[in-house]
Amino acid sequence: MNANPSGCRWCGIEQREHARRWKPPVGWHTWEQPTQAQIKQRMQDRRARRTR
Ligand SMILES: [Zn+2]
Repeated sequence: MNANPSGCRWCGIEQREHARRWKPPVGWHTWEQPTQAQIKQRMQDRRARRTR
């Protein structure tokens, strides 16, 4: 998934364009702040993709 580092912790969509989304396993949800570990992981993923 092409998640934004600051995107929702469940689906990676940015807060301003999120509204309500359905995504397993959480189901319907509003934007939630990602954990520090998630932000770090996403930045690492993004860096890995760029170097390929
Ligand atoms: Zn979400």
